[in-house]
Amino acid sequence: MAAAGSGRRRLEARFVGRVPCEACGRAPMKLPGDLGGLCIACYAGERQAESRRAAGAGGFVPANFATATCLACASTDVDANGYLYWCNACRYVVRVAQ
Ligand SMILES: [Zn+2]
Ligand SMILES: [Zn+2]
Repeated sequence: MAAAGSGRRRLEARFVGRVPCEACGRAPMKLPGDLGGLCIACYAGERQAESRRAAGAGGFVPANFATATCLACASTDVDANGYLYWCNACRYVVRVAQ
């Protein structure tokens, strides 16, 4: 198994916001998941599940800072472009993939 979270590849720009999320099929994909593009909410869910699995195995994964609600100001006006995630309300930006 590859080191969790390291070297996650960006979601190709041609998919971002154009193809439905692989997990829920409702929101447009914005960020790379383990099996395909995910919307921001599903991306956060997958990272949480990954943290739980890693904790159960005594391992560690990087904290996730890309969630459907901004961690800095609690705004839901957030967006992502395949490798960056940002909040339109407070200008919080994080890089989530290579
Ligand atoms: Zn989704
Ligand atoms: Zn914010």
